[in-house]
Amino acid sequence: MKRFRLLIKGTVQGVGFRPFVNKIAKELNVKGYISNTSTGVLLDIETYDLDIFLNLLKAKKPPLCEIYSIDIEELALAHFIDFKIIPSFEEEEEKKIPSIPPDMGICENCLKEFNQKEDRRYKYPFINCTNCGPRYSIVIDTPYDRKNTTMRVFDMCEGCKKEYTDISNRRYHAEAICCPNCGPKLYYVKDGVFYEDDVFKRLKKDLENSKIIALKGLGGFHLICNALDEDAVKSLRLRKKRSSKPFAVMFKSLEDVLIYTYPTDFDLHILNSIEKPIILIKRKEQFFKETTKGLSHVGAFLPYTGIHLRVFDEIDFPIIATSGNISDTPICKDNIEAFDKLKDIVDAFLIHNRDIQRSIDDSVVKPIKDDVLIIRYARSFAPKPIYIKKHAKAISLGIGAFLKSTIAIYKDNQIILSQHIGDLDSIETFNYYKSVLEDFLRFYNIKPDIVVCDMHPDFPNTKYAKEIFDNIVYIQHHKAHIYSVIAEHNIDTDILGIAWDGIGYGEDKTIWGGEFFVGKYHLDRVFHIKPYKLIGLDKASKNPKRIFLSFLFELFGDDFEDRISSFNIDKKEAYMLYEMWKKDINTIYTSSVGRLFDMIAYITNLVDTIDYEAKGAMMVEDRYIDTNLRYDFEIKNNQIDISPMVLELLEEKDLSLIPSKFINTLFEIIKSIMTLLKAKNVVLSGGVFYNKPLLLKIRNFAQRSDINLYYNQKIPIGDGGISVGQAFYGGVLC
Ligand code: ZN
Ligand code: ZN
Ligand code: FE
Repeated sequence: MKRFRLLIKGTVQGVGFRPFVNKIAKELNVKGYISNTSTGVLLDIETYDLDIFLNLLKAKKPPLCEIYSIDIEELALAHFIDFKIIPSFEEEEEKKIPSIPPDMGICENCLKEFNQKEDRRYKYPFINCTNCGPRYSIVIDTPYDRKNTTMRVFDMCEGCKKEYTDISNRRYHAEAICCPNCGPKLYYVKDGVFYEDDVFKRLKKDLENSKIIALKGLGGFHLICNALDEDAVKSLRLRKKRSSKPFAVMFKSLEDVLIYTYPTDFDLHILNSIEKPIILIKRKEQFFKETTKGLSHVGAFLPYTGIHLRVFDEIDFPIIATSGNISDTPICKDNIEAFDKLKDIVDAFLIHNRDIQRSIDDSVVKPIKDDVLIIRYARSFAPKPIYIKKHAKAISLGIGAFLKSTIAIYKDNQIILSQHIGDLDSIETFNYYKSVLEDFLRFYNIKPDIVVCDMHPDFPNTKYAKEIFDNIVYIQHHKAHIYSVIAEHNIDTDILGIAWDGIGYGEDKTIWGGEFFVGKYHLDRVFHIKPYKLIGLDKASKNPKRIFLSFLFELFGDDFEDRISSFNIDKKEAYMLYEMWKKDINTIYTSSVGRLFDMIAYITNLVDTIDYEAKGAMMVEDRYIDTNLRYDFEIKNNQIDISPMVLELLEEKDLSLIPSKFINTLFEIIKSIMTLLKAKNVVLSGGVFYNKPLLLKIRNFAQRSDINLYYNQKIPIGDGGISVGQAFYGGVLC
């Protein structure tokens, strides 16, 4: 027999880890104790065979538990007589970053009970356990205990209390535990009347009659309607003031997904994974035209709570389930708030009386062959700690970007990334941003030693940070993108970092977005897309015609007019823009690759205006066909000049080839720079890399050439990951 002290790091607190270890220790007759510490879990055990114990531990660990490292030390025998869970030492408690688990969709075990007639929670909409259900969305204060959640107003019945206190029960310390006797209840609210009976029957009737309903779920309200009913979807667009951004669709089951889409096995696997995210799947042509507005993929997800499952017990069609808000403001979470804000959008409400403390959207992912990119980091992900090998020198706070804003804190060996907050262009979203920031600092009981902001002088979050903190540093947007990958993958070597996206404020006060950096931690900008002018600043991001004209003005000067005849461009407007371009009125230089996608989408008649973020990029990717054709470009003076491509584009006979040839050109540019610099370790970040054909080509090339390729996999590759890069910079590099 030997005695070992194991320090286990990772997601090991608040996920049922200690009761689990208690169980296997008893099974294997292992003696000693387990305790939470500020950095993980401490196990002090005596056993004849450590390997058996560790193998079982790793193989059978609870679904939400993630082990990053186990440090093992052998000690002199202490002759323990039993196995115990001992409370953590107080000073450890104080140092600790509190662990708050993310909300999770219904687990296998709960699903089984939900469908079992004899079970006391049969068809109970609020069924949950230690492994699933609401958590982050219901926590009012730390530690994560029943009394600190919005479930505190529901007194546990005897049955629930017994399960909650029984260490061998799978609901031991499931803080949201409840049942039909003691838990929350549903109401259908229509024309001011609250109905407690036949809630789902009433809902069914309304959905069948093209009505739009606000449904309160786990992290907020969804707006739902029959996804096969074009009239209902059209009226939802009108009422929600969302002209063309696609809606997500919730399907009854995996079988139903097969009826309406062409999922790969991998898509189905992700769809049904414990995260239950929205995943982009190729749709069958005849379905969801109005929902997707011409895109070939649909955001699909499965029912992930008892409430959703009950909805699908009644109906046989998929439903639109989109965030309950107007335009892109934060998702509604309170009943009273929803009654007020959504009254002109919906015909009825399906609500419940469990309060949502903070709203969490559904997460969105995009499959890239055998991997996913996270588009929206929210339910099931936030606020799960991300383990970082480098110990933070100081407590660092990253305050995020302007679009897809998030915040992140870095302390010790962990970065905690907040849920997706949104674009900070409305007062509502900015107020939500402030509440998330306050929430984080209070929860994690943190006073940041260093606060890292984007360099853009006009970002409201940067301005706000300057008001409330005095220890501010700045890091350039695209460098933050690269640092986010360095943090996530614990990279400790020289890299070539490629940051391509829409826009980010550059160190030279122009707008960057097509950048190549080299360095280890200190990054030098070695190449970039040759800058072109954005005419009318932000207006150019909405009107891709302006990007196209900018290139024509550059190439042909006063003779540009001959070149626009085949495009639907008003001459008077073109001349006005030419004046602006020539005299630099309201223009700024940019090296953005994202805006080039908009231009391509415009030239190929895919879009006229960009009315939601990344529309141009999505449209262009959608038209990709397998070809090796491409356009020309020139690398000169550390700049990549794409005007040869624009010249070729103007002569292109077959418009349908343009998107593919453009994407291939981008790949060629990256390949050329990687080859030129003899790069061995390449980092990709920025929204452009959501592009599947482009990313796959780079992946294949890296593989063939023995290049280590890294990009964001656990956090968004777009601006949602910026705060992680900022926090890392503050914690390690300042
Ligand atoms: Zn469960
Ligand atoms: Zn109960
Ligand atoms: Fe960006």
